[in-house]
Amino acid sequence: MSTEVVYSIADLRIRLAEMRAGGSLIGLVPTMGALHEGHLRLMERARDANRTVVVSIFVNPAQFNEPLDYERYPRSFEDDMEICESADVDFIFAPPIEEMYPDEAFTSISVAKITEQLCGSSRLGHFDGVALVVLKLLHIVQPDRVYFGEKDAQQLAMIQRMVLDLNVPVEVVPVPTVRDEDGVAFSSRNQLLSGSDRAKAAAIHRSLQAAAAAVDGGAKEAAAVKRAAAAVLDAEPAIRVEYLEVVDPVTMQPVARIDGPVRVALAVWLGGVRLIDNVLAGKA
Ligand code: AMP
Repeated sequence: MSTEVVYSIADLRIRLAEMRAGGSLIGLVPTMGALHEGHLRLMERARDANRTVVVSIFVNPAQFNEPLDYERYPRSFEDDMEICESADVDFIFAPPIEEMYPDEAFTSISVAKITEQLCGSSRLGHFDGVALVVLKLLHIVQPDRVYFGEKDAQQLAMIQRMVLDLNVPVEVVPVPTVRDEDGVAFSSRNQLLSGSDRAKAAAIHRSLQAAAAAVDGGAKEAAAVKRAAAAVLDAEPAIRVEYLEVVDPVTMQPVARIDGPVRVALAVWLGGVRLIDNVLAGKA
């Protein structure tokens, strides 16, 4: 079956009801398009486990706190269709904005604690916007499984908690971060980097590896782990650190002492582009 593009919620519901009636399990991969190898891995995981795979492509205005950031977010629908076709995706759900937000939403979805630090500190309203659109997509598609990348670890933790708290009948499947040869995590925003900044971005993953090595080497103080990462980033003057934290992987709360697995997470600015990345470190 080739990939079918569906623009309306009503049409998608009809098509998916047919699939479900035929006994298909449905896997959903929510994206904002500008698809790359990270997204592709999520699609492959969905393809392996479900008879019907839906990729949503929707640049969600509700999760952008800067209008300019929304405007310049990369969009490449023709290429995205080809990638979905090559990944044997059954349906692309690409709703226009009016389809998802025909009216101002009076309902907000806010997951406390997990969203309060890290990206939540600088991107006000961002996570509420993500939670709202993901819950809408889960209600529209009603998938058996939904796939999220660990690249956006705070988002993943938030969705896992929302699904738990609200008894949403879906399995959330985390997918490890896919990286380029130099360690840079694939991201739609990488397209916005100049060639020389793209090369400098390799320091981001190197810094996280240094942090993970400190944890593996027995560091018990988060401050020491942060220093190991910061030393690598400081050597690259083009990079400005917005945050660098050692957090509990489930609650995303900063920890001072390391007694189990932790996530080292950061956001940096490079050439006017904001990039995030993280690694899981330490043993359970
Ligand atoms: P986005 O289109 O950036 O909203 O991302 C859609 C999904 O792809 C999210 O679940 C992301 O976490 C995931 N994703 C983005 N980049 C990567 C990557 N490099 N590796 C794994 N998953 C990713």
